[in-house]
Amino acid sequence: MTEKLIKATVERLLEKINAISAPGPGYTRPSYSSLESDAHRVIAEDADALGLQVTRDAALNLFARLPGRDRNAPALHVGSHLDTVPMGGAYDGTAGVVGAMALATAFARSGEAPPADIVVTITRAEESVWFPVSYVGSRAALGRLTAPEMQAKRADSGRTLADHMLEQGGDPGAVLRSRGLAPARFVELHIEQGPVLDKAAEAFGIVHGVRGGLRYRDACIEGIWAHSGGAPRAARSDAVFALADLIVAMDEAWGAMLKEGQDLAVTFGRVDAATTEHAFAKVPGRVDFCVDIRSDDMAILERVDRIFQDEIEKIEKARGVRVVVGAQSRSQPTRLSSELGHTIAAAAAAFDLKPRFMLSGGGHDAAAFAQAGWESVMVFLRNWNGSHNPDEAMNPDDLVQAVRVLHHAWSGGKGEI
Ligand SMILES: [Zn+2]
Repeated sequence: MTEKLIKATVERLLEKINAISAPGPGYTRPSYSSLESDAHRVIAEDADALGLQVTRDAALNLFARLPGRDRNAPALHVGSHLDTVPMGGAYDGTAGVVGAMALATAFARSGEAPPADIVVTITRAEESVWFPVSYVGSRAALGRLTAPEMQAKRADSGRTLADHMLEQGGDPGAVLRSRGLAPARFVELHIEQGPVLDKAAEAFGIVHGVRGGLRYRDACIEGIWAHSGGAPRAARSDAVFALADLIVAMDEAWGAMLKEGQDLAVTFGRVDAATTEHAFAKVPGRVDFCVDIRSDDMAILERVDRIFQDEIEKIEKARGVRVVVGAQSRSQPTRLSSELGHTIAAAAAAFDLKPRFMLSGGGHDAAAFAQAGWESVMVFLRNWNGSHNPDEAMNPDDLVQAVRVLHHAWSGGKGEI
């Protein structure tokens, strides 16, 4: 009975939420847009019909509470987010929200209260592509969002976070005054966004840590515009050649770090050789780019940043260019709860499953909860075609399986196997 109920909830809510999107390929629900609000409303209505207590905080995070037997025990928050990157996929965030609702539904319909309150928790603005701030909604809920961050501008509209929050019915002033939720427990189900589980033919894994990142979102190299036929090699200050040097140097540094056994990922992106000014017969005088460096260890991020700065110095001298890296933003590498991880692994064993413990390459709200002193863990779901693209794919049965394990874990082993 439980399995059927979980499956039906998963399928019904996936369909309802993914019906909400801006036009175009894939799924687009910008952070603090009316589309994100509409998706939240779908869950609020469903939770209401189920008899859960639905509330929103000043940042418009949504909470749907099912009372447990011990109202004083730390609540189990389960959830994820419903905003997407532009032209994103059907499952990033959505799978976790739908899974949380399926878990609450399984408990609510069984008539047997969970040991502690279960709170379906849907954060706002998780995708930092819209506002250059990590974990906006969860950090707002935790009383950790700052006044300068509230002034961050949304990439598409140029308007501030405070402005967009207000427009959707939130209260930025109250967010900044809020002391935040008291530490409890948080479980986030999320697609892996990588190939590990799929290659290993495993439905889900347990995430023991989240990589942190160090980013330069708006870097550029200034060279000197020249005639591509007339300027001799020695006289050039070619911005694109300089960037190529930098990319190759950082790729080598990355390889060397991996050989040392360190955790690292280096990505250059948004390379734009002054599209509007450039022409075929010009030596490029400018190139804009961004860089995203990730690791599970802050010391490694610092080391790689020093290498980055040293290489820039060398290249500036060798190529006669000027590199402007712009503002740096960071997110902390975070260890997640081994206690919760092992609780879930023990429940999985009852299904003859032995989920692996793995690292998350992407940032997630679970990290923000852990940083605020919560017992926080993630369950990764096998998926295909990566993530943040319209082809993102997963098997909803994997999600059903993971929810059944969570149900078993929090029903004191009484959940149907
Ligand atoms: Zn996500």
